[in-house]
Parts: sequence; C-alpha cells; structure tokens
Amino acid sequence: MDSHATSSQSVSASLLRQIPAVDELLNRPHLRVLEKRLGHRLALEVTRKVLQDLRDKVCQGSIPEIRVEELEEEILKEAEAEAGFSLQPVVNATGVILHTNLGRAPIALEALAHLVEAAAGYSNLEFDLERGERGKRDVHTEGLFRSLLGAERALVVNNNAAAVLLALNTLAEGSEVIVSRGELIEIGGSFRIPDVCAKSGALLREVGTTNRTRVSDYASAINERTRMLLRVHPSNFRVVGFTERPALEELVELAHRHNLLLMEDLGSGCLIDLSPQGIRGELPAGLSLQAGADVVTFSGDKLLGGPQAGILVGKREPLERIRKNPMFRALRVDKLTIAALEATISIYSQGRFDSLPALRMIRMSKEQIAERAGRLAEKISTCAGFTAKLRDGHSVIGGGSTPGQTLETSLVAVRHRQQSAAKLEETFRRRKPSILGRVEQDEFLIDLRTVSEIEEQKIVEAFEKVFSNQ
Ligand SMILES: *Cc1c(COP(=O)(O)O)cnc(C)c1O
Repeated sequence: MDSHATSSQSVSASLLRQIPAVDELLNRPHLRVLEKRLGHRLALEVTRKVLQDLRDKVCQGSIPEIRVEELEEEILKEAEAEAGFSLQPVVNATGVILHTNLGRAPIALEALAHLVEAAAGYSNLEFDLERGERGKRDVHTEGLFRSLLGAERALVVNNNAAAVLLALNTLAEGSEVIVSRGELIEIGGSFRIPDVCAKSGALLREVGTTNRTRVSDYASAINERTRMLLRVHPSNFRVVGFTERPALEELVELAHRHNLLLMEDLGSGCLIDLSPQGIRGELPAGLSLQAGADVVTFSGDKLLGGPQAGILVGKREPLERIRKNPMFRALRVDKLTIAALEATISIYSQGRFDSLPALRMIRMSKEQIAERAGRLAEKISTCAGFTAKLRDGHSVIGGGSTPGQTLETSLVAVRHRQQSAAKLEETFRRRKPSILGRVEQDEFLIDLRTVSEIEEQKIVEAFEKVFSNQ
C-alpha cells in the first residue's frame, strides 16, 4: 500500500517536472501566431490557466504522460473560447416563442437587412431631405403607426417599461392615478406597476378587489388630485371564476366626463387581430384607440415580433407633452431600433405575416411540427447510445402574453443508454452552439416549433458528436 502511494507520488513528481515552462510554450510557432492575434496578456493568461489545470490533473493521477502537442492544442482551443463573443446565438428548442432570457422575438430577415443598411453607413435619421434641415427621428415609424392603428401621434422609446414610466411622469407627476387592484401586476425583471408609478412621481390610488372592479369603484375614487385612469393588461396571469372588469369604453367615458386622461398599458400589444392565428385575449392597439384611450403603450419585441422598443400611440396633445419631457431624450431609441421597427411594421401594413418569425412559429400546426420531429427522431435514434420518440406536448408564446394559453406541439423525447436527461440537458447547453431543451420525467425534450430548418441540422450534428467515444 505504502510503496504504491510512494511510487504514484514519484510518477507525478516526474510528470510535473516534464511540464514545459510558459515561455517555452509561447515560443512554439502556433502559439506565437496566437500571441500576435490575441496580444501577449491574453495568450499568457490562457497558457497559465491550461498549465494549472494540467498540474491539478497530474496531482490527481489522471494524466499518464505529458504531450506538448496536446497541450498546444488545448491552449489554442481555450484561447478561441476566450476570444469569442460573450453574446452568442443559441438554438432555442424549448418551445417558448418569446423567451425573455433568450432575447424574445427573433426579428424578420428584411428588418435585419434594413438595420444593417442603416447601421453600416449614414442615414437621414434626424435630417429632413426635402427641406434640407434638421428633422425628427420619430417620423420614420410614426406614419406607419398612424395608418395601421389610427393614432394621431406615435413615439418610440427603449422599451415598454420606459414608455409607461415616461407617460406617467409627464402626465401625472404629483397627481393621482387610479388603478384596479386586479391590475397591479409584476412582469418580472422588477417591473411592478406600483413601483414604476412611485418612480414616475405619480401617486397610485388602488380601487376594487383582485377579482372584481367596477366602474363605480373608479368613479368614487376620483377627487381633485386625480389626473388619470390607468388600465393594465394582466399579461402573465389570469384570474378566472367570479371576475369583473369594466369595458374600456366605460372607463374612457368616465375619465373624459371628469376631464381626466385614460391610459392603457397593453404590455405585449399587437397591431392586428391575431385570433385567426389562434391567439386569444390580445386585442390590437387600434381597438383601444377607437375606444377613446388617450395613450396606449406596448412592447416592440413581444407579439409584435420586432426589436426591443416601447411604443406610445394616442392623441396629439398628451403625446406632444411626452415628446417634450427631458426624460424622452434619455429613453430614446437609436437608428438600429428605428430601422428594424420600421421594417417590421411595414410587413404588417403589407399583410405578409409569415415574414415575421414569431408569428410564423405561432401559426405552425402540430402536424407540420410532427413531420419534422419524426425525421429528427429517426436521425437521433441512429446516433450511438440514443433513442428518440415523439410525444404530444405544448409550446407557449411566453414574454408575458397570453397566459394559460398553449399551442399543441409534437416533441422529440430523447434518452441515452448511460446518461441522465439532466446530463443531456447540460451537455447540449454547454456546447457551441448551445442547444436548449427541456427535461421532463427523465427525458430530454426538443420542441421544433422554435427551431429553424438550419438550426435543426445543427442539432443533428451535435447528436452525432456527443458521447460518440462511448
Ligand atoms: C412586458 C410588459 C411591460 C414591460 O415591457 P418591456 O418592453 O419588457 O419593458 C410592461 N407592462 C406590461 C403589461 C407588460 O406585459
């Protein structure tokens, strides 16, 4: 026993002595090229890290010999990872279409093309080419919102949270805003209606109850300090059963009778009626304007399927005051967002909904998905150690829209002879490109609703490579 321990100690001591010095390694031709490309500091850092990992492994007795070529390769691989971008594309096989952690809506190809065109050179962002004088960045999207929604004016800011904050600050700072207790929501990422209200300087006046609020509740809370009635889309939750919420028209009538503003935060918001696409409970922003709302806000990267943005549409007078608020300048969007948003809404005005990835994914039928899933399952089953079957399941729209509503889908359910589903999830997540799926009942689940055909090929390649030496 003792002699064994002593001999393994002397083996590792002699292996440790064989580990080359940092400088010696960095002088090898491949690594000199690396140093030129990454700079001395990063090359040195990576080399030291690889050597330290090697020493640890030698001490654990898990390395039989030191091979300098392998070491060199390891350093190059590590350096590649270090030098790569932190923000990287991932394959979203979770079936959550507007996945906030994965960047919400993928934007349309033509929106991307317009963005590239605007970003790579100069543009008329704030220059009126007819008159040859300074213009406003609002004009590029305003016309489209006017014609699509019947808005008198439209403004775009960084996101919907900013839109709500800016509108409340402009229109109700120091005054009371009446909100139903059933709508005091939290979206996640610390957007809570009461907190945003407080930060805007407006005073929140809660009325009604969690499940039922009537027009008379709003009416009896109105006093000389009231400036606004605020209606909020419940977004990510649903109250079912004994519920009551006034029609928007009734609230508008009440607000205007008392000379107050009515604002609606639609959250996800959409531009057209999506019920033919199978989406319930999301009324287009244009309907809120028709009902008489003064200001309506919604996100650009939820159901709209565009870039991150907050859109404010409504009547001329309140929107002009919002435009003049110095906070607008702090929350405004850049040319990239304007370009992507302009191209996205012009897809709507031309009625070409299938050009929008998010809407295309929502409209995909279970049968279409099952056909692709069947082919993928067959390919996965030919990979060593894997079996794959189809299972009925559900995709979700996500992004705080359509709570409780799911889309039927066909999942590829994967198992491996030796690895747990949790291990599969981790392995595919940590590859490049990362492939993100779900784990349920010890199966690794892939939902192709959110995966493009090109990405599907990447999934196949990944299955061919992982655990292939076992
Ligand atoms: C999502 C959401 C927001 C926040 O929108 P962002 O664009 O994420 O800032 C605000 N209000 C409601 C009701 C929402 O659903």
